[in-house]
Amino acid sequence: MLTAAREVSVFGDAIEYFNTAASLLDLDPGMRRLLTSPSRQIIFAIPFQRDNGELEVYTGYRVQYNFARGPAKGGIRFHPGVTLDEVTALAFWMTWKCAVVDLPFGGGKGGVTCDPSKLSPGELERITRRYAAELVEVVGPDKDVPAPDVGTTPQIMAWFMDTYSMHVRQHVPAVVTGKPLEIGGSRGRVEATGRGVSLVALAQMEEMGIAPSGASIVVQGFGNVGSIAAQMFVERGCKIVGISDVSGGYYNANGIDVNGAIAYSQEHHSLDGYRGGDRVTNDALLTAACDVLVPAALEKQLTIENAARVQAKLIVEGANGPTTPEADHIFDERGIVVIPDIMANAGGVTVSYFEWAQNRAGYSWRESEVNERLADVLLENFRRVRGAAALRNVTLRTAAYMVAIQRVTQSMNTRGVYA
Ligand code: NAD
Repeated sequence: MLTAAREVSVFGDAIEYFNTAASLLDLDPGMRRLLTSPSRQIIFAIPFQRDNGELEVYTGYRVQYNFARGPAKGGIRFHPGVTLDEVTALAFWMTWKCAVVDLPFGGGKGGVTCDPSKLSPGELERITRRYAAELVEVVGPDKDVPAPDVGTTPQIMAWFMDTYSMHVRQHVPAVVTGKPLEIGGSRGRVEATGRGVSLVALAQMEEMGIAPSGASIVVQGFGNVGSIAAQMFVERGCKIVGISDVSGGYYNANGIDVNGAIAYSQEHHSLDGYRGGDRVTNDALLTAACDVLVPAALEKQLTIENAARVQAKLIVEGANGPTTPEADHIFDERGIVVIPDIMANAGGVTVSYFEWAQNRAGYSWRESEVNERLADVLLENFRRVRGAAALRNVTLRTAAYMVAIQRVTQSMNTRGVYA
């Protein structure tokens, strides 16, 4: 049982957050059982040829968690730590994320256990094509729509779209989002998650009386989400005092030159050797003095080990699942506000929805239109979550789950359960 392994299971942590909200909503036990069971979990072999001709076999996953509000939707992760448990948790979070921003999608996620940094472009392409080919029957614009996540890129989405289209013998751009612009990607998609993180963070900072100009921010993870969020914060006058990636952390109380760090990281494929800040450990970075902390790397970064030492007043979860339930409890007791992942990083899936809608209409929107609609969706739903938190006197996380669970159960009750 996935849920039994609470100590080690990412899905176990995810269920714990769900249970808190479900109890407050007095959710019917049958509905609870349904919503804590993934609809479909697929595990398959991905044989592929190495550049040296050797045959290698990796493992691929796709979890389609819930379809009540529409086709499954969620990224594909290429990372050595990918497991069925992790992909299930990520698919579960996608269900609530899509619902909390009111998108017509269910939740899904996929992945391949591999280290993309050790694969050539040709090897990555062959893995992606085999991954897509294995899923042809169960993905599609009205079934399940993947997107990029950790370790996957717009180019990988292009190979996925091409493989699917070849198999079904027609051009199907809406089978996947996060594509390059020239084959139906949306303007603003690459920046969308980081933009959304900064939008909700700034809205909450205003509420808490933290002025953007001079506010100090630490960002853990300097990939798509972290680096773009950092850039957007700087545009609003904030000071980024710490950044990190897998190579380690870099702290500069006078402010990191974010564009310089992005250029460095692009040139060297990592921040390793970056000299714009003092080298610090991951632990020192997460507990550094700052107003706002943005974990934007992986799960389980804020834990019982470090939560009592975190100095930020506000935590904005750019990553999925960066805070364990124990740490979340400590933050609540210490009065540290947490904007939960399902709300804070929903900008990406929102613009993915716009991309899917544009593909289906065969019409593309201006970037300003995308960004304006993104801000509308996120800020309106964030207001709703804040309202629910105030009304029920609960954390933003519990309130976000409550809003999402209510929307999903409403759809399920209206459709009726085929049981
Ligand atoms: P990415 O691969 O572009 O970047 C991940 C970054 O994290 C890299 O800089 C990597 O070096 C760093 N990292 C990895 N392990 C680390 C560690 N132990 N300490 C510090 N840094 C570490 O991935 P991304 O797309 O930016 O995704 C980051 C997080 O945001 C993930 O949790 C992902 O699920 C979530 N997310 C991404 C999107 C999206 O649109 N890309 C949308 C919603 C949520």
